[in-house]
Amino acid sequence: MPTARAAEHATRTASVDLQAPLTTLKGVGPAVAERLERLGLRQARDLLFHLPLRFEDRTRLTPLAALRPGQAALFDGRVTHAEVVHRRRRMLVVTLADDRAQILLRFFHFGANQQRRLSPGTRIRAFGEPRGVPGALECVHPEVQTVGNTPPALESHLTPIYPAAEGLSQNLLRRLVAHALPGMQALPDLLPELSRQGLPGLHPALEQLHHPPAQSDTRDAPEPAEPRSPARTRLALEELCAHQLARIQHSRTPRDRRSAPVIRPPGALWQRLRQQLPFKPTGAQERVTAEILADLAQPQPMNRLVQGDVGSGKTLVAVAATLAAVEAGYQVAFMAPTELLARQHGRNLAQWLEPLGVSIAWLGGRQTANERGQLLAELADGQRQVAIGTHALFQEEVRFHRLGLAIIDEQHRFGVHQRMALRDKGNGWMPHQLIMTATPIPRTLAMALYAELASSVIDERPPGRSPVRTALISHERRDEVIERIRAACGAGTQAYWVCPLVEESEQLEAESAEATAERLRAALPELSIGLAHGRMKGRERDAVMEHFRAGGIDLLVATTVIEVGVDVPNASLMIIENAERMGLSQLHQLRGRVGRGNTASACVLLYRPPLGDTARERLEAMRRTNDGFEIAEVDLKLRGPGELLGTRQTGDRSFRVADWARDQDLLDAATRLALQVESDTPRATALIERWLGSATRYATVG
Ligand code: ADP
Ligand code: MG
Repeated sequence: MPTARAAEHATRTASVDLQAPLTTLKGVGPAVAERLERLGLRQARDLLFHLPLRFEDRTRLTPLAALRPGQAALFDGRVTHAEVVHRRRRMLVVTLADDRAQILLRFFHFGANQQRRLSPGTRIRAFGEPRGVPGALECVHPEVQTVGNTPPALESHLTPIYPAAEGLSQNLLRRLVAHALPGMQALPDLLPELSRQGLPGLHPALEQLHHPPAQSDTRDAPEPAEPRSPARTRLALEELCAHQLARIQHSRTPRDRRSAPVIRPPGALWQRLRQQLPFKPTGAQERVTAEILADLAQPQPMNRLVQGDVGSGKTLVAVAATLAAVEAGYQVAFMAPTELLARQHGRNLAQWLEPLGVSIAWLGGRQTANERGQLLAELADGQRQVAIGTHALFQEEVRFHRLGLAIIDEQHRFGVHQRMALRDKGNGWMPHQLIMTATPIPRTLAMALYAELASSVIDERPPGRSPVRTALISHERRDEVIERIRAACGAGTQAYWVCPLVEESEQLEAESAEATAERLRAALPELSIGLAHGRMKGRERDAVMEHFRAGGIDLLVATTVIEVGVDVPNASLMIIENAERMGLSQLHQLRGRVGRGNTASACVLLYRPPLGDTARERLEAMRRTNDGFEIAEVDLKLRGPGELLGTRQTGDRSFRVADWARDQDLLDAATRLALQVESDTPRATALIERWLGSATRYATVG
């Protein structure tokens, strides 16, 4: 159980150096620092802007008889029975009772110590989300604490749940934030004019967002984590304003300092590839390729966004651009949002490019230091023409001989700071940039945030694809869905079962996926069922994906790790659990994993009734259309305040607080603010520094 509050009080008076690297904090060694870095957390100051996703209420105890399925709660009782049972897996099952009711607790991961702690007679306090029906509730992996005869005091504030990453516990994040929070006093409120507009000042906003007071009933009052709470709006405005300031500064950089190589080859490589392709590029692919080639031939850096629905064939267009650059003697950096996707691109590109004599360096996280060193050397001296990897391609140590083009896949959140980092990779010039996304960016937003961005749309699908049929089915009819899988897999197709997103903890997400796989294995013993989640070792997960791709697995139970770009054409059935909790664009991305071959495909959206009006309307939109642009519009219209949806995106984020879709209506105000602040150089610089951080040093390098 968290002791964050105690830690906070202890450090209230101590001063905090906001600029200090996080390794100076207790409990942060190099390994933890690296994980924090993955969340964009480098200095104590960054912790202040790492906002909770939601809150848990541990300010009161719920009697066991009052527990409800699906509602996380704090409860306590005495252990009346505990035993280790062997189903397919070993688990510890504990019965907890108070004077009126009881509940079963299940643990898949437990040691001898925990087993001893949970022996009959012990009084424990637990926090978790019960499942099942009232009267026969169970709870998988609650957090537990043994309590003596004088139970510890309850929390006085709501408990924040932070976005986490592999290997980072909520307790650690809470402790670190609580430690950093008093340091905010040293942070000036750079936009006092916002307080005159009735929004909270910087300090109260941060305090509110991290440590809101307990409410009499959290279900009635809006959560402070709610997207449109005044505190969040205050910070989103400041962040958008900082981005606009950076953009204004960037546009003032003299043009000759932003020149790019002219890439205008005869096009022999692209012609050769076209002859080898088993298909003909679509009209849309041809048109977009021509637009890109025209940009590359200019001495100004290309800055083009290619939007194309899932399966529209964006990779081929990127390959055309790659071949142009390579033929003209330049190198290409190809960046994917996840390791899994980078590997897949590596494989596909190798298949297409290597027969043409193009040499690829795949920079994964799993090479030996020697292999990696060798690849880096070959990139630096130009022997390798194409580098593929995740955003690790931006690391200092990655040097190019003649980088002419950077391709960024599936990342509409590629913001001004990444572009600045990219400039640093050019060899005296700015590389051309091609950004590809399946998530349409509304025009107005693209114009405001990316002034120089040109856009192309691949609005045609490769021929022969039948649209995915989508059904909405209540969780209560899960058995029918299982029969459907039995029939489909029996007939030789493959299927995905996607487990719910648990944004705050990969650990919980993985456990729920494991439990689901367990149940499905019991229900479908004749099928080969695989499991892929974010807590598995990369190697292990790749092996499972590979096995699935090769047809050795019938049903793949997965978390949303398979969201973006995974391409297994024989998979034609997808089940998505708790679909009502996911964002529409995420559902659309997931659904795009089927319907990639020539067989008719289906997607089942499982939901837990009752569905609210908005939730129903959103899921209906999924059923009605396969058009990503239409879905994005519905998403924007319906994503009102008060709705907290899973928003985890792969890759890094352009914004910490703001959301490109939700906060569009704040843009005008943010832009006006930026224009007012702009002439006040120290303030403008401080704002940019605060929100865009170290990346801004590139702005002055030009
Ligand atoms: P996305 O736009 O989602 O990135 P991909 O580039 O992964 O789509 O393409 C999806 C699939 O369609 C791939 O298997 C690819 O080889 C295939 N493909 C691409 N273009 C065509 C085409 N013109 N005709 C037929 N198949 C195509
Ligand atoms: Mg793709």
